[in-house]
Amino acid sequence: MARQYSRRKRILVTGGAGFLGSHLCDRLIADGHEVLCVDNFFTGDKRNITHLFQHERFELLRHDITFPLFVEVDEIYNLACPASPIHYQHDPVQTTKTSVHGAINMLGLAKRLKAKILQASTSEVYGDPSVHPQTEDYWGHVNPIGPRSCYDEGKRCAETLFFDYRRQLGLQIKVARIFNTYGPRMHLADGRVVSNFIVQALKGEPITLYGDGKQTRSFCYADDLVDGLVRMMDSDNEVTGPINLGNPREYSMAELAERVIAGTGSKSALTYAPLPQDDPRQRQPDISRARELLGWRPTIELEEGLKRTIDYFKTMV
Ligand code: NAD
Ligand code: UDP
Ligand code: UDP
Repeated sequence: MARQYSRRKRILVTGGAGFLGSHLCDRLIADGHEVLCVDNFFTGDKRNITHLFQHERFELLRHDITFPLFVEVDEIYNLACPASPIHYQHDPVQTTKTSVHGAINMLGLAKRLKAKILQASTSEVYGDPSVHPQTEDYWGHVNPIGPRSCYDEGKRCAETLFFDYRRQLGLQIKVARIFNTYGPRMHLADGRVVSNFIVQALKGEPITLYGDGKQTRSFCYADDLVDGLVRMMDSDNEVTGPINLGNPREYSMAELAERVIAGTGSKSALTYAPLPQDDPRQRQPDISRARELLGWRPTIELEEGLKRTIDYFKTMV
């Protein structure tokens, strides 16, 4: 059921035409808010938001957040940034600019408007973690000069900026550390593991396991994640995060491949390819903070989430 509001809010979603951003726009519209979606369409897709174009509370602005933005809103969700390794490594300098200059501009905007601002940070701030599962007080194990650094260090610097704008200027900030999330509207060719495996399975092509397939990830369904973001934005002022948001169930990539094969009924074989440089061996969120401070936990298990995602990709492949 939609939440009840004493006042409709004007909400900016940067990266709103992307995978997670478009689900967030849907949720905020359903909750009765006005949504301003800002996107430069680097990895976003108009088809993710076409159904909102005629909605009287939805507005789209093509804009790159590395440039200043002057609009009037009450809350800002800063999601703009390519998230898949293929995309963020395509133009690594632009990735860092988006994370860092983009954060400065959105924080400057929040400062002028005295608006609440939420940063979509990432489990990548933990790098290839030596603490498992990852708790928010773990500082991480990140290579500062490798191919993933543009994203990892960009997101780490963005977190620094958020906390300094709070300490120095009193901004109301929220930093969510998002772990691997999947669902409908993932970019067909973005190279992330869930979309890759499903597309390969549906096409009957070999499923590409990188390395030995024993590395692990924990997969959260998009709707669960979006609910966590909204709860975090609505939390008390002293709840700044960082807060991990993700599904603690951990799978090896080989197990994921099996589940995708079972879910699609595919006859695809497995094939092995080299492990990309600096690929984290394991990843699992400790979500105690999210449970305690937001009353949040994921509710959609992998089987159900995969089914919905496979149904979506069937319409796209
Ligand atoms: P996505 O690539 O689908 O969406 C990112 C959106 O940002 C796209 O629409 C893209 O066009 C837009 N964008 C990129 N650079 C921009 C710029 N300079 N100005 C304006 N728009 C720009 O990725 P996603 O999976 O939806 O991720 C959304 C956010 O969540 C990202 O910040 C990402 O780092 C974070 N995140 C996602 C995951 C995940 O598993 N999906 C995990 C951790 C963090
Ligand atoms: N900024 C923006 N929109 C605004 C206000 C500021 O894009 O409504 C940008 C501004 O161009 C600046 C950045 O945000 O580059 C940081 O703003 P801040 O006020 O913190 O810094 P200053 O302008 O003093 O350098
Ligand atoms: N991966 C894989 N086959 C693929 C794509 C990815 O085995 O076709 C692996 C990848 O090496 C990594 C995991 O799946 O260990 C998750 O990769 P993804 O790019 O989705 O996200 P991230 O590495 O950023 O968590």
